[in-house]
Amino acid sequence: MPRWGLWLFWFALGGCVGSFLNVCIYRMPREESLIRPRSRCPRCGHPIAWYDNIPLLSWAALCGRCRHCGSPIRWRYPVVEMLTASLTVAVLYRFGAGPVGWVYVAFVAALIAVSFIDLEFQIIPDEISLGGLGLGVLLSALLPALHGTDARMVALGRSVVGLLVGGGVLYVTGLVGDLIFRKESMGGGDIKLMAMAGSLLGWKAALVAFFLAPFLALLPGLYVLAFKRSHVIPYGPFLSLALGVSLFFGADLLRATGMEETVKLMWEYYGPR
Ligand SMILES: [Zn+2]
Repeated sequence: MPRWGLWLFWFALGGCVGSFLNVCIYRMPREESLIRPRSRCPRCGHPIAWYDNIPLLSWAALCGRCRHCGSPIRWRYPVVEMLTASLTVAVLYRFGAGPVGWVYVAFVAALIAVSFIDLEFQIIPDEISLGGLGLGVLLSALLPALHGTDARMVALGRSVVGLLVGGGVLYVTGLVGDLIFRKESMGGGDIKLMAMAGSLLGWKAALVAFFLAPFLALLPGLYVLAFKRSHVIPYGPFLSLALGVSLFFGADLLRATGMEETVKLMWEYYGPR
């Protein structure tokens, strides 16, 4: 197969993953089975045939409408498929199509599902956050390259430190927020999501995302405050976006901002000798 054919294949594969994510996004918050029954039109209940379920292509062929009742298909379906397909290619391009690259594809897929579920339902399913956390620790032991080493115990240690730092910083932020605002300010789902990300990416990338997410959430937060008169915005999508940026550019950001150097100096000064 020519090289571009391979990339096209991965794009299509990513589209299929996105199609599955759409099922997760619809069914997980409703506590429905992911496997049965087959997908139906939410409006007319007609089962969706395989040829109407091909990622992106079917949506385009049907002009975004159900074949049976003509009601519009939600924009989320093609968007999630397109996003997953593009990010699959981007991740494999950046990290290679080896085991590490595919683990990151799964991680990014989880972030996409989390973002869209949190946007709509203001929850982050434990199946993804806690399930991913368990997988993150397990995969770290099986695939130490995820943590830049070939020693299993070292990778396992880094995974656990990442889990504690990622979950810990959000937990402490939540405690401080509760004291200031006198009500729950940080959802448990956000804490579990960051713990999951830390277990896979390590504590540095988790910290980068922790510092980045509030900046990403600032403008939408102000918008909601001004026009919707609400103080509540789902934080999961911004954490996910920050984690995605951190996955791709975390090491560069650490260097560029001098954070890595600062931590190293502090460690040398205060740390064990
Ligand atoms: Zn229909």
